[in-house]
This record gives sequence, C-alpha cells and structure tokens, in this order.
Amino acid sequence: MTTAMPVEAPNGFSALSLSPTVLAALNRARYYEPTPIQAAFIPEALQGRDVIGQAQTGTGKTAAFLLPFLDSWRDNNEPGPQALILAPTRELVVQVAEEAAKLAPSKHCRTVAIYGGQRFGTQLAALKMGCSLAVGTPGRLLDHLSRGTLHLDRLRYVVLDEADRMLDIGFRPDIEKILRRCPQRRQTMLLSATLPPPVLRLAQRYMREPLNINLSPERLTVDTIRQYFITVDPEKKLDLLLRLMDREKPKQCIIFCERKRWADELYRDLRHERHRVAAMHGDLQQSERNKIMKRFRDGEIVYLVATDVVARGIDVTGISHIINYDLPEDPESYVHRIGRTGRMGADGVAFAFVTPEQGKQLTAIESFINMQVKEARIEGFEAFTRKIVQPEAPKTIVPIFGSRRQRRYSRRL
Ligand code: AMP
Repeated sequence: MTTAMPVEAPNGFSALSLSPTVLAALNRARYYEPTPIQAAFIPEALQGRDVIGQAQTGTGKTAAFLLPFLDSWRDNNEPGPQALILAPTRELVVQVAEEAAKLAPSKHCRTVAIYGGQRFGTQLAALKMGCSLAVGTPGRLLDHLSRGTLHLDRLRYVVLDEADRMLDIGFRPDIEKILRRCPQRRQTMLLSATLPPPVLRLAQRYMREPLNINLSPERLTVDTIRQYFITVDPEKKLDLLLRLMDREKPKQCIIFCERKRWADELYRDLRHERHRVAAMHGDLQQSERNKIMKRFRDGEIVYLVATDVVARGIDVTGISHIINYDLPEDPESYVHRIGRTGRMGADGVAFAFVTPEQGKQLTAIESFINMQVKEARIEGFEAFTRKIVQPEAPKTIVPIFGSRRQRRYSRRL
C-alpha cells in the first residue's frame, strides 16, 4: 500500500488533527493519505471515546488504532505500558509491534511483543527495560500478569484486535481476566471484521458507549430494510420530501444528494421548512464534519442532507429512514447508502426518488441488488408538473416551471 510521493507533498493525515511529531513519523513511514478506516476512526479516537472498527486486515486498521495512542504518548519513563494490544496470533502480534515501531514518534516509545512460543525470559528482559506499548496474545499476557512480570497500573489505552477471531479461538476467559485487571479509566478500542453477538456482548461489558465504524464490505441488501421508489419530476422533489416526512415522521434520516452544491441547495430550502436540519459534504472542514456527526449521533439533528461522504462507515442507531433524493449513479453507492439504516437488526426504510428519465438507473440498481424495489405513492400528491404538449410520436416533454426554487431544480434535468 505504500506509495512513492515527494517528501514535501502535503500529508493527508494533517486534516485529522494529529500532532507534528506523529505527522513526521507518518512521513518517514511514507504514509501520505489516510485509508478510509483511518480517516473515520482516528478523529473519533482522538476525542477520547471508545470505538469499534469493523474492518479487515489490509485496510490499514493497525495504524488506525495505533495513531491515536501514539499521538497522546508522553515520554514519562514509566516502566509499565501505557497501551495494551491484544491480538489472536503470534503473526499478528509481530505485525502490530512492527507497525508500532515504524510509526513511533520517538525511539523512547518502545513496544514489546509478548506471545507463546518465544522464551519467557526474553520477554521478561524486554519488559524490565520498560515499554510504552505491550502487544500480545491473551494467553501469554495473562501468564506475565499472573507472575507479576507485567503491570497494568499505567495503562490508559486498550485494543482488542481481531476480536471475532480471538473469541473463535477460545480466548474469551483470558481476555475477560485481562480486562478486569485493567484500570477503569481507560480508552478501549475493538477491531473486528464482523460483530456477532459474542463480540457485541464483550463490547457492551467492557467498553463505554462505543461508537461503531463499519468499513466491512456490505451485504448486498439488508433484509431488515424496506425499500421503495417514488417517481417524481425533479422540480417536485422538495414537495414530495416534505409530504413524505409528514407521513413517515422519521426518528432520524439521511437525505442523499449526488453533488455537494445540490446538498447545499436542498439544505437551504429544507432549513426554512423544518428544524434540526444539517448538511454534510466533503467541502466542509474535518472539524466541522466531526461536530455535525456528533450532533447527529446525539440525536440533535433529525434531517442530515448529505453526499456520499457519509455513505460508508457511519453507524448511528437512530437512523430510521434513508432518502435517495438523487438516485446514485453507481448501484454500489445505493447499497452503501441504504445500509446506514437497519443497523444491528433494527427496522429501516429507504425511499428512492426516481425521475421519469431515470428508469434505467433504477433497473441497474435492481439487477445489482437482485430484487425489485416496490413503488410507493403518497395519497393526493401530484408528482408531475410537466405536461405532454404533443402526444403524437415523437413525444416532447415540456417542463413547466413555476417558482425560483423549481427553476433551480430544473437545472438538473
Ligand atoms: P493493516 O490493514 O493494518 O494490516 O495494513 C495493511 C498494510 O498497509 C500494512 O503494510 C501497512 O503498513 C500499510 N498501510 C497502512 N496504512 C497506510 C497508509 N495510510 N498509507 C500507506 N500504507 C499504509
């Protein structure tokens, strides 16, 4: 994944509010752009909250959970580790330790790898020299804890890497014993490709209100999501949205637009009609985006008008509705967008607004998800303003535009 780039090139990680020493380490490692899991995970972790990251190996997940700790690392000459990382296998322990060494902001930020199969004495000698991070398999870590050769009183950052695999291998009792010996005041991170109930139970018991960031490949459609489309003229979309919202009364919804400018326009219009509206797209500063996401997660925002920047990885349990105000050009985006609702078995509804010209786009989505999307109607709502002036072939469709707002939407035709 490492790419060549001149050293003086701006480092994409600087948008994530990492310290200059960590940015220098990233430049040395030739990491110039955060991967999606890093971009989503790091800002949240830097705020001190517990985070669950659903991501597989090869996505940059190791740096995602290491960098927030390395950013807060202080050279305090303490013998005991400030961070503890639990991983299922020796290979993974070594890999994580190597990554930590590569990204360390200083040579005083030492990592010790602790795993079965290596002489106990070697690890003991390394631990005695003092370390900032301990990375290990649960069994051997527990050995050191029981013998009093590893002390966790300085610990403030704990990571359960590949938690699903650790539980599969049968490490649950060891993990729980270790976690019970960790200080209560700490940040806990959990990385897992999947979140089956045993992993969720572990998270519930040992994490504080964790945020879930999901970057695993989505299933093609989520069974719990009811999907509908409504045919509508572009200039009637806002009216349709308002009528639909009155009928559906969403707890929280994301209204997806295809372009940043369209999202801004819709936000400005919707703000006059509804309270608790916000817009979210890639032109906003990262800090602004973080603030909006926090307010959305806290339930302060009900209507989030957004581009595809929030289509992946956002897991807000209150999202009851997804509106594809603009049908996505790419069928895969449709799957990611609607996957923001119906999380963890909850009920979700997705509506797609389809203009008369977009029939083919809808068919492409249907064949991609391998199912038909049902048509929905809003009682008494006139979805078309356009009149067919000459019914004879070839048919000419003449738009009749009224208000300034309608004219603006007509530009999308
Ligand atoms: P992981 O998913 O953590 O196993 O990482 C996969 C590989 O990607 C490792 O070799 C990392 O060193 C590398 N890597 C992680 N993040 C970045 C990045 N932002 N830029 C370039 N390479 C990266």
